[in-house]
Amino acid sequence: MSIARAKEILKHQFGYDSFRMNQEQAIETVLQKKDCVVLMPTGGGKSLCFQIPALMMDGLAIVISPLISLMKDQVDALVSNGVQAAFLNSTQSTSQQSKVFRAIESQKLKLLYVAPERLMQSGDQFIDYLKKLNISLFAIDEAHCISSWGHDFRPEYMQLAKLKVHFSGIPVIALTATADKLVRKDIMEKLALKSPALFLSSFNRPNIFYSVEPKRKSYEQLLNYLSKHKNESGIIYCLSRSSVENLAKDLKQDGFSVLPYHAGLDRETKEKNQELFLKDDVKIIVATIAFGMGIDKSNVRFVVHMDLPKNVESYYQETGRAGRDGLQSTALLFFSWGDVVKLKSFASVDGNQEQSKIMLKKLNQMGEFGDLKTCRRKFLLNYFSEEAKDICGSCDNCNTQYERFDGTILAQKALSAVKRLEQRWGTNYVIEFLRGSKSEKIKAEHKELKTYGVGADISKDNWFDYIKDLIAQGYLKQTDGEYPILTLTAKSDAVLKGTEKVDLIKTKIKEEKKESLVSEGTRDYFRDLFASLKQVRKHIAERVNIAAFIIFSDATLIEMSTYLPLSLDEMKKISGVSDAKAQRYGEAFLKEIKTYCQTNKLESRIQLKEPKRESKSKSRTRRNSNESDTYNISLNMFKKGDSISTIAEARGLATTTIETHLIHFIKSGEVKLEQLVPVHKIEPIRAAIRKLNPGIATAPVKQFLGDDYSYGEIRAVMASM
Ligand code: ADP
Ligand code: ZN
Repeated sequence: MSIARAKEILKHQFGYDSFRMNQEQAIETVLQKKDCVVLMPTGGGKSLCFQIPALMMDGLAIVISPLISLMKDQVDALVSNGVQAAFLNSTQSTSQQSKVFRAIESQKLKLLYVAPERLMQSGDQFIDYLKKLNISLFAIDEAHCISSWGHDFRPEYMQLAKLKVHFSGIPVIALTATADKLVRKDIMEKLALKSPALFLSSFNRPNIFYSVEPKRKSYEQLLNYLSKHKNESGIIYCLSRSSVENLAKDLKQDGFSVLPYHAGLDRETKEKNQELFLKDDVKIIVATIAFGMGIDKSNVRFVVHMDLPKNVESYYQETGRAGRDGLQSTALLFFSWGDVVKLKSFASVDGNQEQSKIMLKKLNQMGEFGDLKTCRRKFLLNYFSEEAKDICGSCDNCNTQYERFDGTILAQKALSAVKRLEQRWGTNYVIEFLRGSKSEKIKAEHKELKTYGVGADISKDNWFDYIKDLIAQGYLKQTDGEYPILTLTAKSDAVLKGTEKVDLIKTKIKEEKKESLVSEGTRDYFRDLFASLKQVRKHIAERVNIAAFIIFSDATLIEMSTYLPLSLDEMKKISGVSDAKAQRYGEAFLKEIKTYCQTNKLESRIQLKEPKRESKSKSRTRRNSNESDTYNISLNMFKKGDSISTIAEARGLATTTIETHLIHFIKSGEVKLEQLVPVHKIEPIRAAIRKLNPGIATAPVKQFLGDDYSYGEIRAVMASM
C-alpha cells in the first residue's frame, strides 16, 4: 500500500491535491500498523490522517469521538464524499442502531464513529462484539481528554486504556489539537501505545488575527466591531448563562441576526439554534463554552470573548473555531484583571490541591496573555512549546505603536513606595497608598510615610498600566501565588538613585488592521457570484438536510467564483471538489456559474489555476500570475457598461484600483480617454501637465487644478500623453 495510492484517494475521494503538515507521515505510520500521536491545530486536517488509512485497509475503522454532535457532521461529510461511514450513539433509535449493525455485518462499512462510553457499554459486550470483526484501526479523537493534566479531562476516556489489551495488534492513532508535553506523555501512557510516533505540527493559525481590548464599554466596542463585519458569521462567548441571554437580547434589539446557546436551554432549542447557525440562517451565536465543541462550521469569521477564558488552552481552542476554511478571521478578547480575580474561585478543584494549583497557574497565564504588549501569536506558540518570530504582523500588538515618555519620576515614586512598604504588599495596596487613599484598608502607620499620596495626581487605571510596564521592564517583580506581592529587583536600585532613566508607555496607537496574505490571495473573486453560489448551497443543504459547509466550504465556493469552472472536469480542479461531490452537486453550481458567465460575457479562468496546492504560497503566487487577469476582469465589466464604482463594489476592490486597471488599457486603445474623463476636463488637465511638467507626480497637478478634478482623471490623461 503506497503513499501514491493515498494521494489518489486524497484527490478523488476528498478533492484535494496535496497533503498538509504531517498528514502523509501519519497515514504512512498507520498503514504500517504502528501507533502514533498526532498534534495538529484545529482545522489542520486531523480527520484525513485516519480516514484515508481506513479506506485503504481491510476491515472497519473505529473512531472514538467524545462529541455526539460532531459525529453526525463527520459522518455526513464522509457520506457526501461517497465513503461508507456510520455512527452509533445514544441519540439513535433502536431501529437506527440496528441499521448500523446490519451495515457493519455486511462488511461494507469502512468507518464507525462511537462515543467512548458506548464502546465500553455493558461490561465488555461491545468490545467482544468488535473482536469478532475485522478491525483495521482505532482512531481516538480529542485524545487530550484522557489526561487529568489537561484542561478537558473526561473520566470515560480512562476506559480506553483497555483497548490495547484487547486489540494488541491493531494500530491506534490518537489525535488532539491541544496537548502540552505532560498531556502528550499521559496520552501515550494511558492508552498504552507501543513506541508511538509523535507528529507535531505547528500550532500557528496564520489566518487568525488576535486582538485584545480593555474590558470597558465592551458592548459599545462590540457594536462597533460588528457593524464593520455585517453578514459575517461569528461566535460570541460569555461566562454566564444570564449574560448570554442579555447580550443576545441586546444584539437582537440592535438589529443583528443572533441566537443564544447555553446549557440551561432545553435540548430542542439548543439543537434548533445550533442548526440555524450551521445553515447560515443565523449569523451570530452568543454562547457559553457549552457551545462549540461539536461545531465544525468552516466559515466562522470571528470569535469574540466578552469574558476571560479559564486558560490559554481554552482560549486557543475557542478562537480556533474561527477560520477553519483558511480565510482571514479575527479573535477578539475583552480583557480585565477583574476577570482573573473573578475566575479564581472557579479555579479551585474541590479536595484536590494539586489540580487547583495547576488551574490557578493556567488562569494567571491567561491573564498575562490579556496584558501582553508583545506579539500575541508568539505568546501562544511559546505556550505550546513552539518557537516563533518576535513579530507576526497579524495581531493587535504587532500592529500597534506604543508611544513612550520619560517616566523616571513616576517610576521612582512607585519603586520607593514598594520599598517603604517593605516589599510586602500587592499592586492594589501600593496604588491606593500612592494615591493617598483615606480608606481604612491603608494602615495608619503607612499614612505617616513620606511616599504616601505622592502619586495622587495619577488615576488608578494609569497606575495599573505603569506598574505593569515596570514589571514587564524588570524594574519590579510580582511574586506567584494567590496574593502576589510587589518586590524590587536588581534593576530597581539604579532608578531609585537616579542613575537610570525609565521610559513608560503612554498611549497605544493602533494601525488599521493589515490584510494578511491569506485574504489577499482570495481578493479577486466575483463576490456577487459567490453570494449566488452560497444560495445554491443553501437550497441543496435544505433539500438533503445536511449542514451547508459539508456540501462545499466557503473556500471552495470562493475558488469557483475565482476560476469560473464551466464543465464537470474543470469543476474537479477546484480544491474541495471530490469525484462524488462533483457528481452529486456539480451541475447545480455549474448552472449558476454558466449563467453568470453568459450575462457578464466572461470565460472560464480555470487555466489560471495552478495545480491545487495547499499552502500559503498558493495565495502568494496566484496574485502575480493573475495580475493581468485582474485587469482584464475590470476591463470586461467596464466594457459591458458597469461604472467604476459598481465594478469596485462587485469585486471588493478600491475604486482607485479599478481606475488603475482601466487606465492601463488607455495605451492600447481598449479604453478611450473620454470614457474615463469628461471631455470638457481633458484639455485643462493637459494644459496643466504641460505647464507644470511634473513627471509622474499627480499631486502638483491636482493642487493646481483644485477640487473639481480627481486624481484618477489626472492619471488617465497622463497615461494618454
Ligand atoms: P481538524 O479535525 O484537525 O480540526 P479537519 O480534519 O476537520 O480538521 O479538517 C479541516 C478542513 O480542512 C476540512 O474541511 C478538510 O476537508 C480540510 N482538509 C484536510 N486536509 C486537507 C488537505 N490536505 N488539503 C486541503 N484541505 C484539507
Ligand atoms: Zn503578532
